[in-house]
Amino acid sequence: MEPLDRLKGFLELILTPSLPVFAAGALVVLLVPVLLHFYLYRATANAGLPSVLLLGPSGAGKTALLTLFERSASTSTRTSQTPAQVELAVSEDGTSGFRDDLDAAGGAAKKFLLVDTPGYGKLRGTAEARLARATKLRAVVFVVDGGALAEPEGVAAAASYLYDVLLFLQKRAGSGRGSKAPPAVPVLIAANKADLFTALPAALVRSSLEAELARIRTSRSRGLLDSGVGADDVDAAQGDGWLGEYGAEKFSFAQMLEFDVEVDIAAGNVTGDGPGADKWWSWIADKI
Ligand code: GDP
Repeated sequence: MEPLDRLKGFLELILTPSLPVFAAGALVVLLVPVLLHFYLYRATANAGLPSVLLLGPSGAGKTALLTLFERSASTSTRTSQTPAQVELAVSEDGTSGFRDDLDAAGGAAKKFLLVDTPGYGKLRGTAEARLARATKLRAVVFVVDGGALAEPEGVAAAASYLYDVLLFLQKRAGSGRGSKAPPAVPVLIAANKADLFTALPAALVRSSLEAELARIRTSRSRGLLDSGVGADDVDAAQGDGWLGEYGAEKFSFAQMLEFDVEVDIAAGNVTGDGPGADKWWSWIADKI
């Protein structure tokens, strides 16, 4: 009987309004959220900075762009870096330019990593690996050489790479259907080298890439048909590798919105005279 009596005594004690009971209760109520906050805060702080990935065919100007942004970053906002990635910051309201000295201006800044993807041989396959590896991916800046896009080979190289990138993001959006869809990753097509008179303006960059992506889409689905898999398999496989609106003859970047992938295009340049890189920077700042 003794343990029961003790339990009864204990219950009576905690159920009787008294100062120590109130004090203990208040302590629990106040402390739990505070401890929870610190626990969760530490968990997110450890997860690292948000990242923006630079992708695009070789020679497009990715390294040049990274270097431009890096040089403008004030040294104290850049703590760790490897040649392929640089830590940058934009003001809390996202309005600071890449040349602004945020330390001088004071106030809070949002930090992020700009990650270059240098040196690769084959285009296909690598885009997926890089995207899959990126942590806290916020945005993709796909750099193309606006001058090279005037040539058919230039468009073909850029579009086949872009196809893989967009298809990866499309599948990613569909992968976590329901409660846990991964956050949407917007894409900026940075049409570089606008200082060259041969460079295509943004509207032409859009239309030529869209036309080439449609062509790639058709030829890839034909490739599946020719490879001798059964018609049912083809239907399933096509749905898998088909970019944008299934069955549509024309491709437009707007079709990617269906998968939460927003695609913007802006022309600019890293070197020479032209619109410069301000538009790209403010696009990035907006996504951080
Ligand atoms: P990556 O392979 O994409 O990293 O390309 P790079 O950054 O190495 O640039 C390839 C070449 O394009 C280099 O010779 C750059 O100097 C040149 N380049 C980069 N940006 C521009 C630009 O805005 N205008 C011109 N005219 N050339 C550029």
